[in-house]
Amino acid sequence: TDAWKGLRVAVFGLGKTGFSVADTLVELGSEVLVITQQADDERARLLEVIGAELVVDESLDVLAGGPPQRLLDFDPQLVVANPGFPPSHPLLQWAEGEAALPVWGDIELAWRLRDKVARPDGTPVEWITITGTNGKTTTTQLTATFLAAAGLRAAPAGNIGIPVLDAIRDPQGFDVLVIELSSHQLHRINLTGDGHGPAGELHPYASVCLNIAEDHLEWHGSFEAYRAAKAKVYDNTKVACVYNKADEVTMRMVEDADVEEGARAIGFGLGVPGPSDFGVIEGILVDRAFLDERHHTALELTTVDELTAAGLSAPHVIANILAAAALARSYGVETGVIHEALKTFRLDAHRIETVAVADGVTWVDDSKATNPHSADASLKAFPSVVWVVGGLLKGVEVDELVAAHVERLRGAVLIGANRDELRAAFQKHAPELPLFEVEGIGAGKGAAVMDAAVRFAASLARDGDTVLLAPSAASMDQFTDYADRGKRFAEAVRKHLSGEQP
Ligand code: ADP
Repeated sequence: TDAWKGLRVAVFGLGKTGFSVADTLVELGSEVLVITQQADDERARLLEVIGAELVVDESLDVLAGGPPQRLLDFDPQLVVANPGFPPSHPLLQWAEGEAALPVWGDIELAWRLRDKVARPDGTPVEWITITGTNGKTTTTQLTATFLAAAGLRAAPAGNIGIPVLDAIRDPQGFDVLVIELSSHQLHRINLTGDGHGPAGELHPYASVCLNIAEDHLEWHGSFEAYRAAKAKVYDNTKVACVYNKADEVTMRMVEDADVEEGARAIGFGLGVPGPSDFGVIEGILVDRAFLDERHHTALELTTVDELTAAGLSAPHVIANILAAAALARSYGVETGVIHEALKTFRLDAHRIETVAVADGVTWVDDSKATNPHSADASLKAFPSVVWVVGGLLKGVEVDELVAAHVERLRGAVLIGANRDELRAAFQKHAPELPLFEVEGIGAGKGAAVMDAAVRFAASLARDGDTVLLAPSAASMDQFTDYADRGKRFAEAVRKHLSGEQP
């Protein structure tokens, strides 16, 4: 641990995760300088309390006059960057270029410090790692739920909103952490040979890349860079690499991964499972993994009827359940335990959440569908849809998505900044489809935008239709975040149905 004492570390970004990084390093005796574009007052105050220095520089993303002088004077030996800083950010260009500094993310640091919370038998906490373009949070929650139901001390952490560094410093300790990893976090793991702390090289107990589709292209620079970052989730896996049988790219990632000897590949999919797979047979979710290969008896996980009763029957949700079951089974959780746990599991808010049913119309909030891949899964779950769509497209194409779903659409309501791209796609593939547009871009416009969108949607919807908010886009042009967007939608629906005038 002496490696950390007196080490000069620059931390880029002061969100929840950035604070956990600074706090951990100060505890280890490092000198910490936090550089950020904006700082929350409370966090800035806490930073002062723990004794880390803060530089707030509003023009950090331009860096016209070079890096802040205080950073140069500080002369860091290591940088820990928040995912908010893409590799193309001028500060990182400086750090990785001219300054030739090692740049880690919080996950790399957390892995090197994982033995801070040894289990009672002295062995370090195991990590189960989860990534994918969509379904990460749901699968992380499911996996942690299954493990906890088996009596293990398990907790979700990572991109799900609980910094891993906070989890590993939790005095109650854990047997296993279920860690949601974003492509940004994966980009900055497995960096060895720099002499700080024990070697990096994350060795997950089990790992999964749920699926992969275009997203975050601006951050990574290309689809290949995005894919390569996601593929790192499988590196050095000890027991089980779980992949999606319907997504060949994830299969190839496992084939190409360097894993520990004895680790096995386990597929999940909505079709009939093979000998070492999770899948669905006649409405029954089954597990054929971890059996004596001579006995191809399927173990029952649950039935689709039971999932329907719990609101968990959308095909992509079943896929997430199968993936989580595979991860939990690899850790020894019995199928019966998984079956029981599923009876009380509920999806989080804003993920295919029914907010109202009135006059034969179902109003569904899937504000978390922030890219075409998730919006696609969402649309597939309903036969006849009035689609509320739009926001910040992040450079991703929507043409194919629109083309794939015109058949099921009653109409569409376009919202948000990138309406031009959406309008063009609708004009091309469904020139006859009733289309409304809501103007009003800008922060704080959210409530008015949703009021108008809901009125338009109501005028389009017929008996048996679903009005689906599945924006296929980020929300920051008009809302605080996806949750704010979903909440505004639900409020607008409630207002509309109660006859209140906005
Ligand atoms: P993430 O954490 O990866 O953003 P979530 O579990 O929060 O994923 O789900 C986000 C949205 O992605 C959901 O609301 C749903 O629209 C969609 N989604 C979830 N799971 C999948 C899946 N396996 N395949 C495709 N889309 C999915």
